[in-house]
Formats: sequence, structure tokens, C-alpha cells
Amino acid sequence: MDNTTTTHDAVDLLIVGGGINGTGIARDAVGRGLSVVMVEMNDLASGTSSASTKLFHGGLRYLEYFEFRLVREALIEREVLLRAMPHISWPMRFVLPYHPDMRFEGETPTSKVLNTLMPWMRGRRPAWLIRFGLFLYDTLAGRKMLPGTSRVDLRDGPEGTPLTDKFSTAFEYSDCWIEDSRLVALNARDAADRGAAILPRTKVTGAKRVDGIWAVTLQDAHSGDSRVVRAKMLVNAGGPWVGDILNAKAGVNSSEGVRLVRGSHIVTRKLYDQDKCYFFQGVDGRIIFAIPYETDFTLIGTTDAEHEDPAVPPVCTPEEQAYLLDFANQYFTRQITADDIVWTYSGVRPLYDEGASSATAATRDYTLKVNTDGGAPMLNIFGGKITTYRRLAESALDKIAPFFPGLSGPWTAGVPLPGGDFAVDGFDALVAKLATDYPFLSAFHARRLVRAYGTDAWLCLGTATSAADLGKDFGATLCAREVEWLMDKEFAQTAEDIVWRRSKLGLRLSKAEIDILSGWMDTKRTELQRAAAE
Ligand SMILES: Cc1cc2nc3c(=O)[nH]c(=O)nc-3n(C[C@H](O)[C@H](O)[C@H](O)COP(=O)(O)OP(=O)(O)OC[C@H]3O[C@@H](n4cnc5c(N)ncnc54)[C@H](O)[C@@H]3O)c2cc1C
Repeated sequence: MDNTTTTHDAVDLLIVGGGINGTGIARDAVGRGLSVVMVEMNDLASGTSSASTKLFHGGLRYLEYFEFRLVREALIEREVLLRAMPHISWPMRFVLPYHPDMRFEGETPTSKVLNTLMPWMRGRRPAWLIRFGLFLYDTLAGRKMLPGTSRVDLRDGPEGTPLTDKFSTAFEYSDCWIEDSRLVALNARDAADRGAAILPRTKVTGAKRVDGIWAVTLQDAHSGDSRVVRAKMLVNAGGPWVGDILNAKAGVNSSEGVRLVRGSHIVTRKLYDQDKCYFFQGVDGRIIFAIPYETDFTLIGTTDAEHEDPAVPPVCTPEEQAYLLDFANQYFTRQITADDIVWTYSGVRPLYDEGASSATAATRDYTLKVNTDGGAPMLNIFGGKITTYRRLAESALDKIAPFFPGLSGPWTAGVPLPGGDFAVDGFDALVAKLATDYPFLSAFHARRLVRAYGTDAWLCLGTATSAADLGKDFGATLCAREVEWLMDKEFAQTAEDIVWRRSKLGLRLSKAEIDILSGWMDTKRTELQRAAAE
């Protein structure tokens, strides 16, 4: 229901969706001089962009689908991104144990070729093919920093210790970790610092073209109030909701759509001591990862399941949990059960729908389409990965540029995100410096702050000279000073925004502690609103 309706002068872009694609485009566009409003109906990264496997990766398995363009772009992009954010992204080694029983998914182009040329393999993945895939992965990547592929003797090294005796050989390759929801928050923060209006908890409830301009109705989630913002161009970065925004909200008839594929993860207490990840291949042709997570945990995922409706919140079903446990148990000596699971999360991939046979086979590449029916342009984003978000934003700006003559060119490659202005190999030195400058921090605390905020950790801690100066202690090293920083600089509004997206302290805090944080933030928000109104 509209309570109030006002109009403003038209902004250049109104971007719908505060996931990685919406915030990435907002940052790039405002940096080129466009006026930008970005709206997100919930918290930033509350959709798919906090539920990924958290890898900047080329996607080794996509080679079997001959997705060379996507893999090459993503591989090259890993190092560009790593340099711009060495606090929230870091290199990791992936150990791929080999066994002759491993099979292809039946429908990949590679398996079809092999079934024709080598029918006696009966769908098995031969070792030479894995080596060839890794050779391509190394070669396509234009690597400068990340080490290449190597062979690992599992009978000898620590990589083999947690695995069953069945595996004696493995291959090892590089990809990078990325703190997905922090990536979104930092893109949003940088966009805001450059002049974009970032409006979380603001929903687009309708959009229509009036006299060649978009009139977009926005509803505030707290007050329920609505207002109309006029925009020269609408950018639909709604992820799983892209079709809903296109058809239901903007009333555009389009045959383009996304295929919604749910992916779930389980988190257990740390299952092994060495710091490498595992890439496990199943007898069903799928793969899963087991990744050291948040120091004391192991992350295992993911699944591929059709998901009909974006409005239905994705959850990791008991069947998906059992599937992931069973998959991991084929590799680990220590058999894990549902009792080992401490947390699960689930997200919906918005994959461009080009009619693939299975969820696993659907393309992970992105497609951008401009609609100009009725005048004012609308750019719709289908698909895309966290890894390619910056390149996707550049491609989006290529589509936007013709409507804004004189727009400047790409600029984001090599420009650090907030707090990321330090050397790629400078993380440990930065932690040591923070610990020296703030000697009251525990080692865990100093490390956590540099991982989260990089060089901005100093701004966050300010003039504090003792733990007491950081204000109320909510547990697990989370203090009022940091909560205020997150509310002020990173658009956090609720305890969940902080403990499950701006950080993963939800793994360490009790429900009672989170409730106290929630009450404290409610009071703080009311104070801030009152001060702003005066
Ligand atoms: C299980 C899984 C694992 C993955 N792993 C990886 C990985 O390791 N590496 C990688 O590169 N990629 C990975 N991906 C892919 C990647 O996470 C997604 O492609 C990416 O996050 C999509 O971002 P997005 O911005 O398009 O969508 P989203 O993050 O979903 O953002 C869209 C936003 O639009 C908002 N919205 C919708 N409708 C409205 C409205 N009417 N008004 C206002 N706001 C609205 C939603 O609330 C949502 O926050 C994975 C995906 C999944 C599901």
C-alpha cells in the first residue's frame, strides 16, 4: 500500500538488487560519473551472494562442458580480484584425489566424445584427462601469482592423512577464497563513498515507463512507506528474482528467464588439520569441495537441485545433508554423521535458461539483455558468478554506455576495495602491526579484524588503548565499536546482518548472545533515527 508518494528528478540508473552483481554495477557506474540509486529489498547479499561456495575460481568442471570463454575469463579475473582485496580473498590449494572409478556426468560434451572414441571406459574419467584439464586450467589462466598444478603422493604427505587408503595419488591446483557477503558489503560501501545512494530494505514494488523515463515505486521495509523515484535507465540485477522484476514489477513481456538451481552446504567442526581444500569427484559424475572454514570448521558442498520459486527460502534439506555426508564419507577415514553438522546454508543459482538437460549442466555464464520497448531502457542480468562480477559490471556498462554519451571507460581493475590497499602477500605483516598497535587484542581478534577490514581495521579501532575502550563485549571478540562501524559504514541493521553476513560469528555466538546484540542494535538504530530526524 502506498502511504506517501513523492517524485524526484530522474537519476541516471536505478539498480534493483543488492547482491554482488547489483553492487558491482553500482560501484563501476558511479565511478564513471553516473548518478546511481541501488535498492535491495532485504539486507545486502541476503540472496544468493552470501550462499556461494566462496571461491574465486575458473571452475575446473566447466571445462567438461567446453565453457572455455567463462573459464578463461574467470581464471584471469582471480588474480585481478586478489590484488584488489587481499584481506577478503586469498589463494588456496585444491587437492583432487584420483581413483579409476570416478565417472563423468553422462551428458557433458566431453563424456559424449569419450563414449564414442573410448566406449570401453564406460563413463570413467581417465587420469590423463584430469591432467589435461588441469594443464588447460593452468594455461588458460595467464597466471602470475598463483602456483600451477602438481602431483601429490597421498601415501606420503599430510594431504593423504585424513583420506581412506583407497587413494594414493592426487593432483593439486590453485584457486582463491572469497568472503562473498563481505565482497558485496565492500562494493556497496565503495559505491556509496563515490556518491551512490545505497538503499537496503527497500523493495521495488512496481516500475513503469512514463514519458520516456522510468517511474519506480520503492517501499521501505521498516515503515511500509512508498515513494516514486524517476530513473533514465533501470538495471535489473535481481538474481533469482530477475524474472519477477522483469515481468511482474516492470510489466515487460519477455521470454528470457533464469533457471533456479538450489545449492546447499554443510559446516562441521574441523575435520582435518592441513590447510588445503579437497575436490572430491563422485561416482555420479558430480563434484563437491571440502574446505577449511573459519579456522575451526570444515565447509562441504554443494548440491544441485531444481528450485521452483525464488519466494520460497532455500534450505539444505535432510536429503541434501545425507547426500553431502555420504559423498564426503567415501573419502574421509573418519565417518561423519548428521550429529557433526553445526550449520547449513543454501542458496539459489540464477542460471541463464538456455534449456540445458540437467541442473548441473545449465550454463554458469552470464547474459545481458537490454529492453527498450516503450522508450526508457532496461538492462536485465541473467546468470553470472561471484568470480566474474567485476567483468560482468564492465559488460553491463558497455550496454549502458550508448544511453549516456561521453561516459568514461573501465576503471575498476586494480583499484582496491576499502581496506584492500596492501600487498597480496602482506596479510601476516598487517596482522603483526595491528597486534603491536593494539596490544590488548588476542591473536584471534587481530587476525579476524584484518581479514574483515584490512587496513581499515585501524579506522575501526580508532584511539582505543584497552579492550574496555571497544565498548560492550557481545562475545567471540565482537565489541560495540565494531558493531557501530558495521552499522555506520556497511549498512548493517540487524544482528543477523552482522553475525551471518558481515562476519560468520554466528558459528561462535550463542543464541542468548545474539539476542543481546539484537536488542542493543535496535536501541542504537532508534537513537540514530531520532538524531537524524532532529
Ligand atoms: C550453492 C552456490 C554456490 C556457488 N558458488 C560459487 C562460487 O564458489 N564462486 C562463484 O564465483 N560463484 C558461485 N556461485 C554463484 C554466485 O553466488 C551467484 O551467481 C551470485 O551470487 C549471484 O549474484 P546476484 O547479484 O545476481 O544475485 P543475488 O545475490 O541473489 O542478488 C539479487 C538481489 O536482488 C534482491 N531483489 C530481488 N527482488 C527485488 C525487488 N523487487 N526489490 C529490491 N530488491 C530485490 C534480492 O533480495 C537479492 O538480494 C554459487 C551459487 C550457489 C547458489
